[in-house]
Amino acid sequence: MTKSVNLIQNFTTKSGKPITFGTGTGTKWQNLKKSRDVPALTEELVEALLLALKLGYNHIDGAEIYTTHEEIAEAVKRSGIAREDLFISSKYNPGFGEIKSSNATEAIDKALKELNTEYLDLYLIHAPFFTPEGSNGETVESAWQRLIDAKKAGKVRNIGVSNFRVEDLERTFKVAGSKEFYPKVNQIEFHPYLQNQSKNIVQFAAENEILTEAYGPLSPLFRIKKDDVVIEDHPLVSYLPELSKKYGKTPAQILLRYTYQKGILPVTTSSQEERIKQSLEVYNFELEQADIDEIDRLGNLFHFRGFFIPLYEKP
Ligand code: NDP
Repeated sequence: MTKSVNLIQNFTTKSGKPITFGTGTGTKWQNLKKSRDVPALTEELVEALLLALKLGYNHIDGAEIYTTHEEIAEAVKRSGIAREDLFISSKYNPGFGEIKSSNATEAIDKALKELNTEYLDLYLIHAPFFTPEGSNGETVESAWQRLIDAKKAGKVRNIGVSNFRVEDLERTFKVAGSKEFYPKVNQIEFHPYLQNQSKNIVQFAAENEILTEAYGPLSPLFRIKKDDVVIEDHPLVSYLPELSKKYGKTPAQILLRYTYQKGILPVTTSSQEERIKQSLEVYNFELEQADIDEIDRLGNLFHFRGFFIPLYEKP
């Protein structure tokens, strides 16, 4: 086991249960909600979360910009599971998209109200892309100070960031002063075709005892498209089914296990019962190091980035 796998083990619910992979409430669900323009609850999401909770997920990934806090609250209520047995996270939107608070303190208070809870298990700054026009005068430094204050006030158990580069993390370190208030998590896009969302970020995080969480971990299975059509001639296409056969697991399970064995905690999502179930059935097998190395090698032959493309790939 690597040092980073132990980092995952540092995260538990308030009652001390080890956290599962995250079940997301963004991407798929926020788009569904927007496309319907519904002010009320999106019942499909409530049902999917409820199912995920019943099947054993205890970790829910939310965000201000997803506008799905109410669905999380409703699913938790209907599940009957005690709050302290769950790990609920959310994120402050520093200025992209339409939904935003004037600052992170306001966003945290709003999240607590919408989620109908007294505390969050994890709260992140969604991205380092603050702008003079969009961020209401807030900066990485002022937002990080607000997260530290929220942790001190007991509103949030763990604080972290998302989509941060090495230089952004270093800015938070300066504000933090001591390691106690460094980010505990950096949630980034991660899969074999994007093994470092920004230069050296995964290794730097591990060296500083920051847990890397992966969003989009299944991207190689369905996001590789040309002119909006899924294409199937990329390096992992034939290798994942080969591993599927060898281990008796689906390609999605292989990718999730690969991520986990690299010491990175996946945040995934599905609306389908069988897939939700399968995503949790990855703790009971182990990929050989040679297979992980081969996924790494094949992954490095192809490049795919699904999120924040212009911000990372400036000419
Ligand atoms: P994944 O890579 O896990 O993709 C999930 C999608 O994969 C779903 O649409 C699901 O569709 C499909 N899927 C699930 N299982 C399989 C399978 N076995 N085979 C093929 N397709 C499958 O994660 P996301 O990219 O959705 O991200 C997960 C979460 O991460 C988001 O909900 C959000 O909470 C967070 N996130 C954070 C970001 C950030 O900036 N911090 C950015 C993006 C996401 P189906 O329902 O049909 O199964």
